[in-house]
Amino acid sequence: MNKKSNQFIADYIFRNLDIQHYSKEQINQIQVELLQAHLKFIAENSLFYKTHFSKNHVDISKIKSIDDLKIIPPTSKEDLVHNNNDFLCVPEDEIIDICLTSATSGEKPAMLLQTHSDLIRLAYNEEVAFAMTGLCANDTLMVCAALDRAFMAGLAYFIGGTKLNARVVRSGSGSAVQHWQMLKVTNATALVGVPSLMRKIAEYGIECGENPSKTSVKKLIAIGEPTRDKSLQLLPLTKSLEEMWGAEIYSTYASTELATTYCECQKRQGGHVRPEMIITEILDDNDNPVRAGEQGEVVVTPLGVTGMPLLRFKTGDVAFIIDEPCACGRTTQRIAPILGRKKQMLKYKGTTLFPNGILAALEGVSFFEEGYVEVKSNPDGTDKVFLHLCLKDNTINQNMIEEHLRAKIRVVPEIIIESKDTIMNVIYQPEKKRKRITFIDSRN
Ligand SMILES: [Zn+2]
Repeated sequence: MNKKSNQFIADYIFRNLDIQHYSKEQINQIQVELLQAHLKFIAENSLFYKTHFSKNHVDISKIKSIDDLKIIPPTSKEDLVHNNNDFLCVPEDEIIDICLTSATSGEKPAMLLQTHSDLIRLAYNEEVAFAMTGLCANDTLMVCAALDRAFMAGLAYFIGGTKLNARVVRSGSGSAVQHWQMLKVTNATALVGVPSLMRKIAEYGIECGENPSKTSVKKLIAIGEPTRDKSLQLLPLTKSLEEMWGAEIYSTYASTELATTYCECQKRQGGHVRPEMIITEILDDNDNPVRAGEQGEVVVTPLGVTGMPLLRFKTGDVAFIIDEPCACGRTTQRIAPILGRKKQMLKYKGTTLFPNGILAALEGVSFFEEGYVEVKSNPDGTDKVFLHLCLKDNTINQNMIEEHLRAKIRVVPEIIIESKDTIMNVIYQPEKKRKRITFIDSRN
């Protein structure tokens, strides 16, 4: 491995440090050390951050604590997309893998170039995340996520699973039919994938006259979609998914830029932060850190990345930190389920809410068929929120829906009941093919 690389994390990893049970003071001390090494590495090697520091008069030698990070303005996704190559910290011949970030709202994807050491770090990250759920070398883990198209996730699950010594089945981005068949052949004990896909796989099994809860699957590791609400209760759809499979569902939070996974332990009460891998901050609208329990944007500094390391990267996701000790005995902080995307936050009747939160309040309710949220601007800058929906049961009236929503989310958007065809035409727009549209933002 090259000398130039940001190898300090390897020292911690290969010493097999049991940081998860250290005291808060010890964890803090290790994080500060790792942070200082990270800052030094990017100040020496990243053209983007050299410019960023000098433009904002940042003297990194003044950073003596995690709190001091606030003197550095955060990095946005736009920074990464528009100055992509300036983030590279190693000679090009040290790059062995090219990952692409997901493209959001018209932006093109950015590249995140990975070195050999980054892949070792990624494998370690996923190994410890899987181990957190109780997965071990006796498991057969079926990866139901894309391993191709330069995605990081599928690659991470594969190398992490093999590092755990589990048998990994690269089921990939196949159809529910293929996944079901693969499962029957391999006797997989755990699946990793998007919950909506796991549902389709189970439904296909039921169509074939079989019972998914009688298969070998004992764990479902959920990616990409929330499984719990703000108070850490299982969403109705998650609960029914667990029942279908007769398996426990574990939630994870990760993205390409994070290169790190927040994974639930067996107590399943929020994703544990891996302090040796990432610094997690929650910032308010003015980029000031908020206290544990208060919601804001998740801003991360993944530690030990060598190819294209990031500093205070704004994820665009909204969540809060749980700082109370976990029943599992780990001392590390946890991150609550992602409440939504910051861009989609609605300012409504003196409160903030998210389109997916409104729809989640209706999930699994017997009269609800499908729906989407639309938002427009009021002249005073607040939002006008509409809930378009179709019903399974036409004896239900508007008042009953309002009452249900008031009980669940305290506020009630304007409800518009429409025909199933009208709603489906909006949600499944043919040109968008794979993606369901459940939020239309018409704010100016
Ligand atoms: Zn725990």
